[in-house]
Amino acid sequence: MLKFKKLLWIATIPLTTLHAGFAQSQETRQLESHEHGAVEVNLVVDGSMMFIELESPAINIVGFEYTPESVEDKDAVAKAEALLASASEMFSLPQRAACEIHTASAKWVGDDDSGEKHDEHEKEHGHDEHEGEEHGKVVHSEFIANYEFRCGDIGSLDKMNVHFFEHFGGAEEIRVQMVLPSKQTALELTAQSSVIVFQ
Ligand SMILES: [Zn+2]
Repeated sequence: MLKFKKLLWIATIPLTTLHAGFAQSQETRQLESHEHGAVEVNLVVDGSMMFIELESPAINIVGFEYTPESVEDKDAVAKAEALLASASEMFSLPQRAACEIHTASAKWVGDDDSGEKHDEHEKEHGHDEHEGEEHGKVVHSEFIANYEFRCGDIGSLDKMNVHFFEHFGGAEEIRVQMVLPSKQTALELTAQSSVIVFQ
């Protein structure tokens, strides 16, 4: 609920600031608070543009959240990043809306990115011991993807198929928060019902 309020608030500020806000939230987020099995999507339609931010616990996507060390695990993360960054693999939009992918990116984000917390932990245990779950520390990581679409006829964008569940088996629900020109709303997608309806 708190997050939704934040989304409503950012919808009232200029788009460039909004975009920066998304980027900043990635850096400062608390990975401990994420819920395994759930994916969060923030979606904003503004003018001819649609912006999507997708955040998923890594366990939903690659089946683990520790920092990848082996070639196999690193490969799994790289493949997941590449698939997530392929907007046409992740979403299907109606042809009549004439949407083109403006930008699309995805990255794995680990606990080590949370800065201050990591430093404190280092002081307590020394850096060599900082190896995940061995001494009780719960490790979390996520994938964060960002997409921007530019649409020739955004008024015809009435629905969008989300293919996340087809690619990744570990998620049970996608929580979508949307800021549309006409309204702000939220909905949940599942593997059985994975279409966002805009109207
Ligand atoms: Zn986790």
